[in-house]
Amino acid sequence: MTLTPSHIIEYLFCPRFTYFEYVLAVPQFEEHNYKVMKGRHLHDERLEQNKNYLRRRLGVVNKYLDQYLTNDLIRGRVDEVLELADGTMAPLDYKFAEFKNRIYDTYRTQLYCYAWLIEENFGRSVTRGFLVYTRSQNRVEEIPITAENKADVQKAATAILEIIDRNFFPKATKAKARCVSCTYRNLCIK
Ligand code: SF4
Repeated sequence: MTLTPSHIIEYLFCPRFTYFEYVLAVPQFEEHNYKVMKGRHLHDERLEQNKNYLRRRLGVVNKYLDQYLTNDLIRGRVDEVLELADGTMAPLDYKFAEFKNRIYDTYRTQLYCYAWLIEENFGRSVTRGFLVYTRSQNRVEEIPITAENKADVQKAATAILEIIDRNFFPKATKAKARCVSCTYRNLCIK
């Protein structure tokens, strides 16, 4: 089996969440705000015009649109893979959302997964990614991506497969506040 960025995001929210969902196969009953909400398909004319402008501004020398990428552990669809003037590559993801002065961890994790996929599929280094907030005049946020960020999602992917393949019951998150909104709070050992 291969994992998606959503699996990684859920695991990072709480490893035990992965266990309930994929080992015990207890369905989630609620939509959670930490789930990756993929934006509506974007084909606004103004956005299409802005895309070329955006890419020029970011120093893009080549682009690969709507890339479905896989490796041994994960898979994901990247809105744009950009080749930059400095020889690195970067994922760019459109969010049908307003920018609210902070970048959600879910968005960051998604970019880290994409960085890992791009490095393996294109053989180029990835040191940053971009988010475009289409409901805030296409505001662009540049997100740095370090070797540690990529290693963290790789470690999470390996740990998830261990939970699923070996029925391993993991430790709960240390952030107890998360349990309050968790769909599995009634099943889970407190
Ligand atoms: S109730 Fe808390 S510990 Fe249990 S799965 Fe949910 S977040 Fe994790």
